[in-house]
Amino acid sequence: MNVLVINAGSSSLKYQLLNVERQELLAKGICERVGSAESFHKHGLDENERVIDAHMADHDDAMALVLESLTSGPAKAVDSLAEIDAVGHRIVQGGKYFDRSVLIDEDVVAKIDELAELAPLHNKAALMGIRACQKHMPDVPMVAVFDTSFFQTLPPKAYMYPLPYELYEKYAIRKYGAHGTSHRYISERAAAVLDEPIDELKLITCHLGNGCSISAIDHGVAVDTSMGLTPLDGLMMGTRCGAIDPAIVPFVMEHEGLSPAEMNDLMNKKSGLLGISGISNDLRSVRDASEKGDERAMLAYDMYSNSVKKYIGQYIAVMGGVDAIVLTAGVGENCEKMRRLIFTGLQPLGIILDEEKNRQRGFEREISADSSQVKIIIIPTNEEYMIARDTYEIIHERVGMEDGVHDAAEILM
Ligand code: ADP
Repeated sequence: MNVLVINAGSSSLKYQLLNVERQELLAKGICERVGSAESFHKHGLDENERVIDAHMADHDDAMALVLESLTSGPAKAVDSLAEIDAVGHRIVQGGKYFDRSVLIDEDVVAKIDELAELAPLHNKAALMGIRACQKHMPDVPMVAVFDTSFFQTLPPKAYMYPLPYELYEKYAIRKYGAHGTSHRYISERAAAVLDEPIDELKLITCHLGNGCSISAIDHGVAVDTSMGLTPLDGLMMGTRCGAIDPAIVPFVMEHEGLSPAEMNDLMNKKSGLLGISGISNDLRSVRDASEKGDERAMLAYDMYSNSVKKYIGQYIAVMGGVDAIVLTAGVGENCEKMRRLIFTGLQPLGIILDEEKNRQRGFEREISADSSQVKIIIIPTNEEYMIARDTYEIIHERVGMEDGVHDAAEILM
């Protein structure tokens, strides 16, 4: 089954076409700056990637271009739209409604729209992606895969904020988490690498990219996560501040004369590694500057590792131990120096990094010392594959029911 995975942002549309049975990536690309005069489209795999200047007034135009590139021209992946069997959409906010991926119908669309209050940019963008697919591929089934659904298992003591209870009742203010598809994928893969059933493991999963989040997964069930009502909470990130004293918010707004939107912008786009270093949100640039002696870059580097270390400690306490710590995304997969800083000093907790293994490159791998009680594992994340797999499973379940095959497991991978 060929599944088109769509990740629509407010001015972008990322996509991958995957064959699920063969676990093969057939095509990928991105439409950027959709809606502006500088819009462009990148399409193709690795060295075959081409950048095409193309005017895209909206997501509808972008979708038309994507489908054209997938089915015609030098980098086409399939001969016709008929070879695209289903579409999987990444949706940021599933609120309390969605604890798993679902087949998209008008009721699901209405709920995604209702939830846009909690994630205005993201959910509205996803809806544009859904509408564009409905227009261009009206008969192709679509599945919604939510960033938040993996965290619907959190207990109330983890997802409630100690604010007046009425705010929860009135506005559904609570922790929803994010990056759930990535945490779900790397926890499953970590269990496979360890060759142990996931329901016998205590895992701490760390997604350290531009956005960063960390989760406690106790016997296969998410019990806590660092992102909150929005992805701003938790760890220090590329441009986001993560958790800070909430009293800073009204203080800065008052003294700097900022509106709520400006304050939000400051915390989301001007803070984190960028805010402290004054150099970049990109850890590589901050690392290079710190190695040349730039003090603010050194401070940013130290703060980032300390922020991860503190969450690891918290989640060991939450679960009463940990069997493995799993790292993923740009920083987690690639930055040996950051990994060394994060794990330095954790030996008393039975967490020992193997310096040599930490330096080596590779795909999925263990980097803890043989003597370490807690395993440290690197798993490159693959959210698109997870979205394609969920889509495949949901469509097959439906086809199975229609054919009278009621045991979906018979036809699943
Ligand atoms: P996104 O959240 O945008 O998907 P990524 O997972 O691509 O982000 O992670 C981006 C971060 O990973 C950046 O801070 C970048 O500097 C860092 N990164 C990528 N490769 C390396 C590397 N080889 N060494 C250190 N940091 C890296």
